[in-house]
Amino acid sequence: MSKYKIAILAGDGIGPEIMREGVKVLKVIEQRNDVEFELVEAPFGASAYFSHGSSFPEQTQALVDSADAVVKGPIGLSHEESKKIPVDQQPERGALLPLRKRLNTYANFRPVYLPKSLAHFSPLKPEVVGEGIDLIMVRELVGGLYFGHKEMGVDENGVRYVREQLEYDENQIKAILHEAFKLAGARKKVLHNIHKSNVLKSSVLWNEVLEEVAQAYPEVNVVHTLVDAAATALCLNPGQFDVMVMENMFGDILSDQGGGILGSLGLMPSACLGTDGKAYYEPSHGSAPDIAGKQMANPYSMIGSMAMMLEYSFGMQDEAKKVWQAMQSVFADGYSTADLSKPGSGVQMLSTEAFGDKVVE
Ligand code: ATP
Ligand code: MG
Repeated sequence: MSKYKIAILAGDGIGPEIMREGVKVLKVIEQRNDVEFELVEAPFGASAYFSHGSSFPEQTQALVDSADAVVKGPIGLSHEESKKIPVDQQPERGALLPLRKRLNTYANFRPVYLPKSLAHFSPLKPEVVGEGIDLIMVRELVGGLYFGHKEMGVDENGVRYVREQLEYDENQIKAILHEAFKLAGARKKVLHNIHKSNVLKSSVLWNEVLEEVAQAYPEVNVVHTLVDAAATALCLNPGQFDVMVMENMFGDILSDQGGGILGSLGLMPSACLGTDGKAYYEPSHGSAPDIAGKQMANPYSMIGSMAMMLEYSFGMQDEAKKVWQAMQSVFADGYSTADLSKPGSGVQMLSTEAFGDKVVE
C-alpha cells in the first residue's frame, strides 16, 4: 500500500469551507484505492497570525518540509482587515512567498477549462467560447518582481519613494521554459510566449533564453504575444491559445482574467511544482472575504487542485480523471454554487457543502 503524508493548510476566508469539500473527496479516493493519506492540518495565513503570532508558524514550516505534498487554501484578509497585521506578517509576504521559496515551486500550472456544453457559465458570447475554452497558463512562481529587491523610503527632499526590482537569471528562465515546452509537446505542440520585450529588459533576456531552449523542442511551434495583446485576445478569441508561458506577475494577472472568461475564479485550480518532487496545490484565487462563511464559494478550484496533486505528486492519473469527471457531471446535471447560478441562468444553486456531496456521490 502507498502511504502519503499531506499537509492541509486551510487558510483564510473561504479556505476552510472549500478545503473541507476537498478533504471529503480525498477520503473517497482513499477508500477506493490501495492508498493511505495521512492528512495533517496546520495553521497558515492571517488566521495563523492571530492564533499563533506568525502567518507561517514554525510547526507549519516543519510539516511542509516533511510532507509528500501540500494542499493550501487561499489566504488573506479584506483590505480593511489586513491593516491589523504588520507588513512583514501579511499573509502573502509572510507566508505565501516564503512557502513558494521554501519548496522552490518555480512552475505554476493554471488550467483554464470550460467545455462547450458549459458556455453559459462564461460572460463571453457562445460564438466566442466556440468549441470550449481549454488552455493552460504556465506561470513562473519564484522570481520576478515579487521576489526582487524591495525598498521604501524618503529621499533627501522628503519625498517618499519605492523601488521594486524585477529580477531573473537565465537559469530560472530556463527552468520554467523547459516545463512549458514539455507541456506544449504533450498537448497541441504550440507554445504562446507571453512577454513585453518592447519595454522590459527582463523580457529581452527571457526571449533570448527561449530561443536556446526551443532548440531542444523542434516539434513545438512558438508564437510570441505581447502581454497586453494577450489580455485582449483572451476575451476576443481564447480558442487560439493552448499552453501560455509567462513570468510571475503577468501570470498572476492573466490567470485571474482566465477565471473571468470562465465566469468565476472558483473554476481555477492550480499546481505549484518545485524541484526534488516538492509541490503544493492551491486554488488560483484569493480568500474571497466577501463570501466567506456563507457557503457560497465554489470548491471546484480546491477539489481540482487536489486532482492535480493526485496526478502530479502521486501518479494517480485515473483517479484524478474521475475527480474531474465527477465535477463536470455535477455541472452537466445543471447544478453549481452561487457564483455560477445567478437568477435566470437556469442553473440550480447548491451550497459549497452540497456541491462537495454531489461530487462525492
Ligand atoms: P488575491 O489577491 O489573494 O488573489 P483577489 O483580490 O484576486 O485575491 P479573490 O479573493 O480571488 O480576490 O476574489 C475575487 C472575486 O472572486 C470575489 O468577488 C470572490 O467572491 C470571487 N471568488 C473567488 N474565489 C471564489 C470561489 N471559489 N467561488 C466563488 N467565488 C469566488
Ligand atoms: Mg488575485
